[in-house]
Amino acid sequence: MFEQDFIDNQKIKLEKEKEELEKSLSDFASKETENNWETKYPDIAPDERDPEDSADEVEEYVDLLPQEYTLEIKLKNVNDALDNIKEGTYGICESCKRPISKERLEANPSAKKCIECIDL
Ligand SMILES: [Zn+2]
Repeated sequence: MFEQDFIDNQKIKLEKEKEELEKSLSDFASKETENNWETKYPDIAPDERDPEDSADEVEEYVDLLPQEYTLEIKLKNVNDALDNIKEGTYGICESCKRPISKERLEANPSAKKCIECIDL
């Protein structure tokens, strides 16, 4: 369906994206499993906290959660795409099972749906 050259190129892009995502995540989260990262909670003993500092830390933690979640979803999509390359099913729309256009895959190597299905 796609030439091997195209797939190889996409794979390089995906692996680079994966590396960057893992790097961003590792700044504030620790890897639990391949697709699951835990945001690090500020690690300070309770008796060393003054109440004001503690409130700031909780706020920071809460701010990081959506960021972690977004990166984690992206990372999962990238890992799924890499799995699909291994299985030879890369670039198939998960809704209509037709090939996703090359232009779309070039713009977004971890796309899961074709342009027709994306907004449904
Ligand atoms: Zn589709």
